[in-house]
Amino acid sequence: MMKAMIFNIQKFSLHDGPGIRTTVFFKGCPLACLWCHNPESQNERQDLLYDREKCVMCGMCAKVCPQDAITAVGDSMVTDLTKCDFCGRCVIYCIPGAREIAGKTYTVPEVLDQVLRDRTFYEESGGGVTLSGGEPLLHIDFAEELLRSLKEEGIHTAVDTSGAVPFEYLQRAAKYTDLFLYDLKLIAEEKHLEFTGGSNQEIRENLRKLTEIHDTIYLRIPIIEGVNAEDIFIEETLDLIAGLKIEEVHLLPYHSIAKHKYKKLGREYDDGAMQVPPSATMERFRKMFTEQGYKVKEGV
Ligand code: SF4
Ligand code: SF4
Repeated sequence: MMKAMIFNIQKFSLHDGPGIRTTVFFKGCPLACLWCHNPESQNERQDLLYDREKCVMCGMCAKVCPQDAITAVGDSMVTDLTKCDFCGRCVIYCIPGAREIAGKTYTVPEVLDQVLRDRTFYEESGGGVTLSGGEPLLHIDFAEELLRSLKEEGIHTAVDTSGAVPFEYLQRAAKYTDLFLYDLKLIAEEKHLEFTGGSNQEIRENLRKLTEIHDTIYLRIPIIEGVNAEDIFIEETLDLIAGLKIEEVHLLPYHSIAKHKYKKLGREYDDGAMQVPPSATMERFRKMFTEQGYKVKEGV
């Protein structure tokens, strides 16, 4: 049976579309944005997270690991991931909860079983289910089947996409998707490559083509001082979307809440160049969009 690697099924989500929602976070992403809030989503495979702050160095994880993958080095426990098969024993035996595995394979019926439990909340709040990630459409066969099944159940569906996928994937998802949350980060190609690790040509082209086949698209734009918080970026964005049917524009001010996740993954988080944008900048950008007739929301 078809399976996909999912790292979280988050209930009572209020920021991924209208009403109360359940958001299904898929692993794997074609981009690697420097500010990514879900670094555990980028890898298509499982990840092992270790929180040094919670670890009391009891050594239990090393004792129970069947692969002999964990060693105490100085004041922390180091895992040799080339040996680890993600059996999860160290997670179960770690009493302080310093260890965690991100990523589990699910079938479509397993996801449905989880998300349909909150049907009453969706109905009462005008909510539903959102597919996010990572990039959910990298798992297009699974995503299409899940979206189709949700529509059969009468559930409102949203897809949060980077747009960095073949257009055919967006077409297939569009048949069963009520709302697209479409991320746009930078317009200048060189900067896009520098800060996200990927080209934006396909993303820009896909946005235009998607507006031709779907009429409920919210554009989601992270605003990051030091990266894209400049009038020229907003002007270029306005040029790009001129004449396209964009239902709402969401401006998302940068924050570094996810910094601790990088540490747990053993990765560096270089936020030197990235800062929270001043509120005056956010207000100016909001005005630039509203003056062109767009409905704008901030921080959603
Ligand atoms: S079992 Fe948990 S608390 Fe004990 S050494 Fe391992 S990670 Fe640290
Ligand atoms: S998940 Fe299993 S194999 Fe990997 S480090 Fe933990 S106990 Fe060892």
